[in-house]
Amino acid sequence: MITTYIGLGSNLGDSKEILSEAVAKLHAYGDIRISQLYSTPPMGPQDQPDYLNAVLELMTDLEPLALLDVLQHIENESGRVRLRRWGERTLDLDLLLYDDVHFSDERLTIPHIGLLERDFVLIPLLDLNESIKVHNQRISELDVVKNSTLKPIAPSSWWVK
Ligand code: ATP
Ligand code: MG
Ligand code: MG
Repeated sequence: MITTYIGLGSNLGDSKEILSEAVAKLHAYGDIRISQLYSTPPMGPQDQPDYLNAVLELMTDLEPLALLDVLQHIENESGRVRLRRWGERTLDLDLLLYDDVHFSDERLTIPHIGLLERDFVLIPLLDLNESIKVHNQRISELDVVKNSTLKPIAPSSWWVK
């Protein structure tokens, strides 16, 4: 069984409902744990709503590319349309970490390419695993984490309804 971490984001439609549905669908592929829920300012174009973000831990046997297929299928089911880079979307599911595997091809790079620069994924990731390391570095020691002012808007228990 592999420990994977998946970043969830939404800033279009009923984001809480969309994220909850995505979590339920991912649960079909293995045991899950989920971070607190965060509200974060957009990255990229600023003329879009704030995001809801969380990180989910999924224990699974799926191979990395099969897992990416699942994530993209769930994104499409949420009605995601690609309009502009880093633009508004109903659902973004990024494969952040797949055990300690390093992999890159035209469809998939793991660890996720933006991981170490983004507090809106690092802070929820720390909710799930305080001692987690990426590229041999403890993420709790990164400046982007130490300087972050991100605060949760709902506890992990919010997901269990
Ligand atoms: P970013 O990847 O910077 O967070 P984004 O999430 O908005 O931006 P998407 O439009 O969701 O980008 O995905 C663009 C492409 O990224 C997808 O077609 C996918 O194949 C590729 N990709 C590469 N590595 C990953 C990964 N680790 N997780 C998800 N998608 C990935
Ligand atoms: Mg993304
Ligand atoms: Mg994405």
